[in-house]
Amino acid sequence: MSTERRRDDPDAKWNQERPAKSRAKKPLLKLYCRGNVNTPHQYELTKQQWATNRPCRRATEQEQQWWRGKRGPWLCWHQEQCSSCGKITRHFIGWAECPDLPEELKP
Ligand SMILES: [Zn+2]
Ligand SMILES: [Zn+2]
Repeated sequence: MSTERRRDDPDAKWNQERPAKSRAKKPLLKLYCRGNVNTPHQYELTKQQWATNRPCRRATEQEQQWWRGKRGPWLCWHQEQCSSCGKITRHFIGWAECPDLPEELKP
């Protein structure tokens, strides 16, 4: 008996149905340090690479007008990075989360 499969055979089972892709939940490995589900990242705020020498600062009146209030009154160059593996977990944080935000601007 021949077991040869023909791809163009319309009656062939493998031409009629495709198994639904398994949607089994996988852990989101990027949430874990080095892909190890038992180790969450050690979140830490660091400066974006190009801004290491730039302090976060208050936006000027003019800048705030350009952005029409979309960015808030404070310019923050911080990012969130894992202190263990070095992965950048958030490239921008909200301006209100900036550790350098002056007391009077806090929402
Ligand atoms: Zn990590
Ligand atoms: Zn900042």
